[in-house]
Amino acid sequence: MKSTIKELSVLVTDDSLTQRQYAQDLCRDLGITELHGATNGVDALQRLEAGPIDVVLIDLEMPIMDGVELIRSIAQKQLSTSVIILSAKDPILISSVGTMAEADGLHVLGTFQKPLLPDALECSLLRYIHDAKLAKQQVHPVVEQEVTAVELNEALVNGEMTLAFQPKLTVQGLLLRGVEALARWRHPSKGMISPGVFIPLAERHGLIDALTRSLLEQAFKHKRQWQHYGLRFNLAFNLSPLSLADIDIVDWLCAMAEKYEVPFNEVTFEITENALLGELASAIRTLARLRLKGFHIAIDDYGTGFANAQQLSRVPATELKVDRSLVHRAAARPQQKTIFSSTVELAKKLNLITVAEGVETEEDFQIIAELGVDLVQGFYFSKPLYADDLLEWIKSGLTQLRREHAKK
Ligand code: C2E
Ligand code: CA
Ligand code: CA
Repeated sequence: MKSTIKELSVLVTDDSLTQRQYAQDLCRDLGITELHGATNGVDALQRLEAGPIDVVLIDLEMPIMDGVELIRSIAQKQLSTSVIILSAKDPILISSVGTMAEADGLHVLGTFQKPLLPDALECSLLRYIHDAKLAKQQVHPVVEQEVTAVELNEALVNGEMTLAFQPKLTVQGLLLRGVEALARWRHPSKGMISPGVFIPLAERHGLIDALTRSLLEQAFKHKRQWQHYGLRFNLAFNLSPLSLADIDIVDWLCAMAEKYEVPFNEVTFEITENALLGELASAIRTLARLRLKGFHIAIDDYGTGFANAQQLSRVPATELKVDRSLVHRAAARPQQKTIFSSTVELAKKLNLITVAEGVETEEDFQIIAELGVDLVQGFYFSKPLYADDLLEWIKSGLTQLRREHAKK
């Protein structure tokens, strides 16, 4: 694995000789020696097919095969490289091509308007190194294997479903405000199965109620345990949109909170933005009742769906969680940063607590602090942790994190 920028191989694709040389000179200034050039898409593909390249700089306007087509071909042929997208055109176009490239499965390090600035290039290449390290550190490879509803049912019966908890911290002072409970399933032979796979499976096969109920009881048991240790922080729990249509859910949630001695106002239920687009009336009824009882409501994954400001204002929410797709790397994407910033402003006007999700780097955190976001959550601070590890992290990891930040 390459651990410094100097070791990277870079291909600069640009039809203009001056521009190409300029970008290559910037790379040379960073100590890169393995440099290649291409004058159009076809030329670039030939070079990529000849041997692996770490990072490809792509100019969008080129003759013969333009940057958009090149990106598509790189993705289709799985020449799997990280890309930096450049253009003299307007920033909206550049960032939408970036979104398209990501949807195609490419690793987009940055999208910039020309001229490419030395700092922007260096940050993008550092990101490559950083992400390569992260990928290597993934301890539990997530297996996106086929699992069946029968296996899921067995897992529920056998108690294979557990929870991990990810800290939610205040931007100011990095205080522990709460944790989000995230479902975990370690299949006996297939390894870790992602909730992105088994939650929709449970929803499709009528198992979501049983799953939610089992996980919520576990979450409340942990919360009671923390309270016994004198730890008072909020517990956030994800509710499927299907649960909102269940008329008994509110009474059941209250009964469980009482059973486990969990104060209602120390619990937040997270509902995805898209849940608000379907059966809005019944969802709002459930959410309003939960609010009246004193629970908090967070709108999750905001920015991935199409809820507008008016829909948002109708939901009795207390918190808005801005999705990782708006947060992560906003520093390198002016368009994304603008949307992020106006989302935060809107949330503030609606009196909602703002949470930035998926914070992975110091750069992400700086933008968040600049925009006045209230809370942060992300790998940069902590991955989701099993209950025992969470206690350890609260004891030592958190203190260390604060100490490191005080130095910055
Ligand atoms: P979510 O509610 O948006 O949860 C946050 C997801 O982002 C988690 O993925 C978490 O591990 C991941 N994450 C946190 N920080 C970072 C970061 O810095 N970078 C990146 N790349 N990812 C980060 P996870 O645990 O795989 O959960 C995926 C989704 O599955 C959740 O998204 C949620 O929608 C759903 N889910 C998880 N547990 C439950 C549950 O108990 N009930 C329901 N209904 N849905 C759940
Ligand atoms: Ca969530
Ligand atoms: Ca989320």
